[in-house]
Amino acid sequence: MRYSGFRVIKEALTGHKGWTPHWRDVAPKSNYDVVIIGGGGHGLATAYYLAKEFGGKRIAVLEKGWVGGGNVGRNTTIVRSNYMLDGNEPFYEFSMKLWEGLEQELNYNAMVSQRGILNLYHTDGQRDAFRRRGNAMILNGSDAELLDADGVRSMYPFLNFDNARFPIKGGLLHRRGGTVRHDAEAWGYARGADSHGVDIIQNCEVTGFRIENGKVLGVETTRGYIGAGKVASSVAGSSSRVMGLAGMRLPIESHVLQAFVSEGLKPTIRGVITYGAGHFYCSQSDKGGLVFGGDIDGYNSYAQRGNLPVVEDVVESGVSLIPALGRVRLLRSWGGIMDMSMDGSPFIDKTPIDGLYFNGGWCYGGFKATPAAGWCLAHLLATDRPHETATAYRLDRFRTGRMIDEKGMGAQPNLH
Ligand SMILES: Cc1cc2nc3c(=O)[nH]c(=O)nc-3n(C[C@H](O)[C@H](O)[C@H](O)COP(=O)(O)OP(=O)(O)OC[C@H]3O[C@@H](n4cnc5c(N)ncnc54)[C@H](O)[C@@H]3O)c2cc1C
Repeated sequence: MRYSGFRVIKEALTGHKGWTPHWRDVAPKSNYDVVIIGGGGHGLATAYYLAKEFGGKRIAVLEKGWVGGGNVGRNTTIVRSNYMLDGNEPFYEFSMKLWEGLEQELNYNAMVSQRGILNLYHTDGQRDAFRRRGNAMILNGSDAELLDADGVRSMYPFLNFDNARFPIKGGLLHRRGGTVRHDAEAWGYARGADSHGVDIIQNCEVTGFRIENGKVLGVETTRGYIGAGKVASSVAGSSSRVMGLAGMRLPIESHVLQAFVSEGLKPTIRGVITYGAGHFYCSQSDKGGLVFGGDIDGYNSYAQRGNLPVVEDVVESGVSLIPALGRVRLLRSWGGIMDMSMDGSPFIDKTPIDGLYFNGGWCYGGFKATPAAGWCLAHLLATDRPHETATAYRLDRFRTGRMIDEKGMGAQPNLH
């Protein structure tokens, strides 16, 4: 079924009886060419592009819960391509270009809104670093503008400019960045994949791998054994657990990241603002709530809920940047499990086990990567070669010394 204004009017006039489910509810088959573990944004996008762009057939996505129940439905919806390093920026720019055409591509309203992202700077050194990053972005086909304090003031006069400790000196503006309705994006890819024949199987947890002579033959699941020519793991915060079932240890730790939404306000924040002197970022949803977040909880965890010290830390940072926030009521908060890699950059790679592929290590930045991660993993599955924008995302980079340490934080996942 194609969606259109005409269809909405027709359904309104005929009692809304013609709408069909977004995807079929199918029982797992005994064997597939490709099995993708994880029905989050990345797994569904992989299935979609594999079927549509690379002619893949007999593909299944196995999801232990429900589509959209993982990080894809829990994130703060920010998409951007404002990275600096060569290993990263071409990939994220590829992703941004895919976002720009995604709604037409999927015939689905994912509320892609390029409302702009402003990274604030508070020192001369930070300004120089942002200028360098902006130049790297422009060289890779992205957009960047360096604003001074007056430029920021004209956009957001309510920020705390004259804070004695962290005065706002300006910001790096990335106009094409913005927000996307996160779960709509998962539903859109699920619908698109289904329309190309992909089986999306919910309530189907992978509990083991069948591996013989160094080759994967299939997966054990709560709904029985499923044979597969190739298997790809795309399970975000559960990466270490799932790959552990195949006997692999990953350079990844899982941590909780929390998100917060305030009561609904009149339109106040038109884009996304990030604080340069604390870990805090904020945007306003179309319903009016301020959506904000900050740092991960410091301990390792697989729980999808966080703790109070980080709530306090995030709110402190928020109020120090936007004092008026102190009068806003917090409506709700939740957590998701982050697959934090040691250099803060992801993996899209083959594993040493023949036929087993891995996508993960996205830290708290994998939502914006969804279209490109799906495309690049599909490319790898179809051709056994990395896509040109994802050649650096290798599992062996800590052995070869080719880390992509975007923030220069070293091997400390809680700092990335
Ligand atoms: C609070 C928060 C804020 C964030 N903000 C942003 C942001 O603003 N911008 C951004 O770019 N990124 C952000 N992220 C990160 C982003 O959401 C993730 O990096 C990204 O969604 C991960 O990819 P995914 O969508 O495929 O993951 P998920 O949606 O988590 O998908 C993985 C799926 O695998 C399933 N699974 C796990 N184990 C198994 C198994 N054994 N068998 C079968 N299925 C299994 C899970 O149930 C899950 O549905 C944020 C994350 C959180 C939690």
